Amino acid sequence: MKHPFDLSGKTALVTGANTGLGQGMAVALAKAGADIVLVGRSAPTETLAAIKAAGQKAYDIRADLIETAAAKTALAEAVEIAGQVDVLVNNAGIIRRNDAVDFSEDDWDAVMDVNLKNLFFLSQAFANHCIGRKAPGKIVNIASMLSFQGGIRVASYTASKSGVMGLTRLMANEWAHHGINANAIAPGYFATNNTAALQADEDRNAAILGRIPAGHWGKPEELGGAVVFLASAASNYVHGITLPVDGGWLAR
Ligand code: NAP
Repeated sequence: MKHPFDLSGKTALVTGANTGLGQGMAVALAKAGADIVLVGRSAPTETLAAIKAAGQKAYDIRADLIETAAAKTALAEAVEIAGQVDVLVNNAGIIRRNDAVDFSEDDWDAVMDVNLKNLFFLSQAFANHCIGRKAPGKIVNIASMLSFQGGIRVASYTASKSGVMGLTRLMANEWAHHGINANAIAPGYFATNNTAALQADEDRNAAILGRIPAGHWGKPEELGGAVVFLASAASNYVHGITLPVDGGWLAR
């Protein structure tokens, strides 16, 4: 019998996997046996090499996911080159920082389009792909601590990530009966480009570290277990959850 966490024979599409958490999750999925389609706007050179080193196939599709049309067509392109997509990891995301009283419409729209609107339209295309071929599917959305908390100086990011948690529940409600599991992971504070400004700010860095029971910023590979779980048969009866992977941050 196949191990419930075994992903051999599966293809996972991961967005924004040239770096950071997306890279960590793509490599973890490959190590569990999946072939990987990388969808993003920058060359995922390192990630392609790591997936191939894990013995899996890796495909590279360039798409700017701020464009809804690109999100809608990325899935069809992935199916064309890989034959099928069984797992969708909606990881690509951006953040803009400013005081709420000065927050611009551009900073609002850009973040909402990448983090929420186009996450939805790529998921919609994936759900139609699964339903059309009567095959099960796994959606893993990347949420945030700011799906649970308010944050500060990141109005559109908080709105988008709170939206991701809600949309994950909606997708579960509408698609679970088709054999599609929609769930989310809420990473805590991980050391990536996204948090470079916080890591560089001595006071914020100390305050954040002081609140993490595990005592360190997360490393991208520390998301591996959660994404493999939610992408595999091990989570077949798990629907609509947002799983914190946060070194204990929310326990405080
Ligand atoms: P990151 O290192 O900045 O990576 C973000 C990824 O998204 C990059 O691959 C980036 O591509 C891609 N991306 C951004 N805009 C895109 C666009 N318009 N089209 C296509 N791809 C685009 O950040 P990260 O920390 O790994 O973040 C990954 C996800 O985790 C995001 O959704 C973020 O909100 C979430 N998250 C991060 C943390 C954390 O502590 N780091 C915590 C909670 C949630 P480029 O390299 O080309 O920009």
